[in-house]
Amino acid sequence: MEEARHFIGGEWSAASGGETIAVLDPSDGQPFTLLARGTAADIDAAVHAARRAFEGAWGAASAAERGRVLYRLSMLVAIHQEELAQLEARDTGKPLKQARADSAALARYFEFYAGAADKLHGETLPYQAGYTVLTIREPHGVTGHIVPWNYPMQIFGRSVGAALATGNACVVKPAEDACLSVLRVAELAAEAGLPAGALNIVTGYGHEAGAALARHPGIDHISFTGSPETGKLVTQMAAENHVPVTLELGGKSPQIVFADADLDAALPVLVSAIVQNAGQTCSAGSRVLIDRAIYEPLLDRLSGAFHALRVGPSHADLDCGPLINAKQQQRVWDFLSDAQHDGIPMAAHGEVIPEAPESGFYQAPTLLRDVPASHRLARDEVFGPVLAAMSFADEDEALSLANGTQYGLVAGIWTRDGARQMRLARRLRSGQVFINNYGAGGGVELPFGGVKHSGHGREKGFEALYGFTVLKTIAIRHG
Ligand code: NAD
Repeated sequence: MEEARHFIGGEWSAASGGETIAVLDPSDGQPFTLLARGTAADIDAAVHAARRAFEGAWGAASAAERGRVLYRLSMLVAIHQEELAQLEARDTGKPLKQARADSAALARYFEFYAGAADKLHGETLPYQAGYTVLTIREPHGVTGHIVPWNYPMQIFGRSVGAALATGNACVVKPAEDACLSVLRVAELAAEAGLPAGALNIVTGYGHEAGAALARHPGIDHISFTGSPETGKLVTQMAAENHVPVTLELGGKSPQIVFADADLDAALPVLVSAIVQNAGQTCSAGSRVLIDRAIYEPLLDRLSGAFHALRVGPSHADLDCGPLINAKQQQRVWDFLSDAQHDGIPMAAHGEVIPEAPESGFYQAPTLLRDVPASHRLARDEVFGPVLAAMSFADEDEALSLANGTQYGLVAGIWTRDGARQMRLARRLRSGQVFINNYGAGGGVELPFGGVKHSGHGREKGFEALYGFTVLKTIAIRHG
């Protein structure tokens, strides 16, 4: 079986401990490749390689030169878009068309940050007579990136793109379940002219390689995307060295549909927001809050749409692929068995095609109705294709339901009433609000991140560049 290696200091290397991890294809549950099982020693080697690059060729590169490297990388990703999509689809189980959208987004991240690299600047500040004061944005130095398995390419692209654009050298620990695309992109980055050590990838388990990265004293900033529990652990470990952490931790994002909404426009978006990537999306629209006046008719239409959904292997390229692994499948089953036990009605579900291998990790998309606001199906992240429908009587109740979880990542509002759109948008406790749309096609340019247990700090857009830099103030007294 093929064996993937770490990418450290511009070279491929086996795990220092000599051990490997088998990677399963979620579509049939069978191993198809091996990963290097990274150790603290591998992380240490990667951090040192990054430090050398930061103090050497990469640190010395001008902003325009960094932008040119990223632009060449975006071109190479575009040229290899299909190869990367095939790799991502097999590794994550997602339908090929969704993986193609991911590799297109990856190219776009590098293109966006290539253009932004030489547009970031400081300010001059008014101060006492006889002084000139200015601010400069400088890179942190060596940044650590802990990436999950749901969108390896996109989440890697958004944080590493912004970190490299601002002159940091990166050490990336992708998820053990899916990281082959990230390794291939590291190779393309070298081809694009990125100096050795500016981008290092160490694969392995979270509690081993991930923890070693989070607590390494040579790391100056950590970007983490994943579960709230692990986010807390990473923050605690980073705090030992007073290292700043950006956290993106998921959500229980609501879409609020009023009686005056354009339901023809809303319906496909309500469905795709939870079915995309089999619901394993931090910003999945996993709750639909429906105006009581249209509750039954909209549920009928949603039920029809769910009934028509087909689930199968990634290469069959249907509406939905398998879940990432058996643990995730069991998690979704546990939520659904709770729903059944507590008498929450199932309004409709899709179908797994008969050709889907029994050993794959499949779950039919499921629509649950009348979910009580206090139930864990209305409050906790399932991370599977399960949509919880609830009704509301008025705007205040809609708002209190929408804000009534520990999360606050994304929210959607569907109404034609302009005043209501803004009233709600301002009162929602959420990092992003979409009006008469949801997710805005990925939105590379749009700052993204949460409030409350969804995390803090912002990825994406120009805003991410601020997070990957520190501000230095220089006061010159000239009389
Ligand atoms: P996780 O948080 O454990 O894993 C995310 C990343 O963190 C992976 O690279 C993992 O190896 C690493 N990691 C794990 N333990 C670590 C540790 N002790 N120190 C440092 N790094 C560590 O997530 P998971 O177990 O793969 O999935 C569990 C749940 O997390 C899911 O059900 C879902 O709710 C949530 N999740 C959210 C997102 C998101 O985009 N917000 C992504 C993946 C998973």
